[in-house]
Amino acid sequence: MGSIFSERIDRARQQMNATGVDALCLSVGADLPYLTGYAAMPLERLTMLVIRLDGEAKLVVPELEAPLVKETGDFTVVPWGETADPLDLVTQMLSGANKVAVGETTWARFLVGLIDRSPNLAFCNAGLVMTPLRAVKTADEIAMLRSAAHAVDRIAARLQSGEIPLVGQTEAQVSAELGRQIVEEGHRKVNFAIVAAGENAASPHHDAGDRVIKEGEVVLCDFGGTMFGDDGVGYCSDLTRCVYTGEPSPEFAEMYAVLLEAQRASLAVAKAGTPAEDVDRAGRSIIDAAGYGEYFIHRTGHGIGVEAHEEPYIVEGNSDPLVAGNAFSIEPGIYIPGKFGARIEDIVVAGETASDPLNVVDHNLAVIEG
Ligand code: ZN
Ligand code: ZN
Repeated sequence: MGSIFSERIDRARQQMNATGVDALCLSVGADLPYLTGYAAMPLERLTMLVIRLDGEAKLVVPELEAPLVKETGDFTVVPWGETADPLDLVTQMLSGANKVAVGETTWARFLVGLIDRSPNLAFCNAGLVMTPLRAVKTADEIAMLRSAAHAVDRIAARLQSGEIPLVGQTEAQVSAELGRQIVEEGHRKVNFAIVAAGENAASPHHDAGDRVIKEGEVVLCDFGGTMFGDDGVGYCSDLTRCVYTGEPSPEFAEMYAVLLEAQRASLAVAKAGTPAEDVDRAGRSIIDAAGYGEYFIHRTGHGIGVEAHEEPYIVEGNSDPLVAGNAFSIEPGIYIPGKFGARIEDIVVAGETASDPLNVVDHNLAVIEG
């Protein structure tokens, strides 16, 4: 039995074979650590994993970064010195190939360099190979996502109990505190910690700022990070809950009740066989019927795994049926400009007969005393 990396590289080769790709080139981004446990430094020196369908896998890496690579036995490290041209190395490795899949987040300077050197090669997006692999999580990956989800659940519970002070703090101060707790709870990296108070909550990706949180308003918190396993591969958390500092106005409470019903409705249908867009429709139809349709301005969710946003996207137009092992967010929101907004977000895994929610912290609007 090989390592998870040799299994993944085998599956990548199967997918290359199925899609007529004879070389796969991965640089910065999540695909590389997914297959090797090694993340490329996002700098001007090229790191690139080259997997030939008919040959071995080679990791082209700057000589000075080579000591960072943990060799798994599934690829050969090919270091290049400061005066060498790494694109020449990669071009040689591609000789005889026809269709080359290049990682989606590879810098244009490298891809353009490869195109210049090999005008006869056909290049395509490596999503063709990698998306089907990454979108279906194994039991081990689901366990990692669940640990990360439970870690942020514990932080949300402290927001809901009033243990994390809000009133009198700036959004930025609360955001910094959430970031601190994300790391304290076992994540290595903070990916984001959105804190949006009152009218700022109408901006879905609000940047926490100097706005002081007052009594009698909503505070929307959307936060997550990346938790790493022993194999060097990280999995993301992403959770949104709203807290009200005092008794909510009837107008807000009514809107929140609609949102909660919508989120539950989407969750209820998020299982294998349901087209992704039907998960979106299930919640959106409730928000539409209640008259808030124009204020739900984004898709219902995104896949999550080694990246915070990945396939599958839970959006109108994606009629692909979910498959067991897909992990994604369900995060409807209602945003009324100039007034307030709310969002409820959980990560769930599609099972054969039901959805498996990874976040289980209370979904109700928490009311805390200032
Ligand atoms: Zn989120
Ligand atoms: Zn999200």
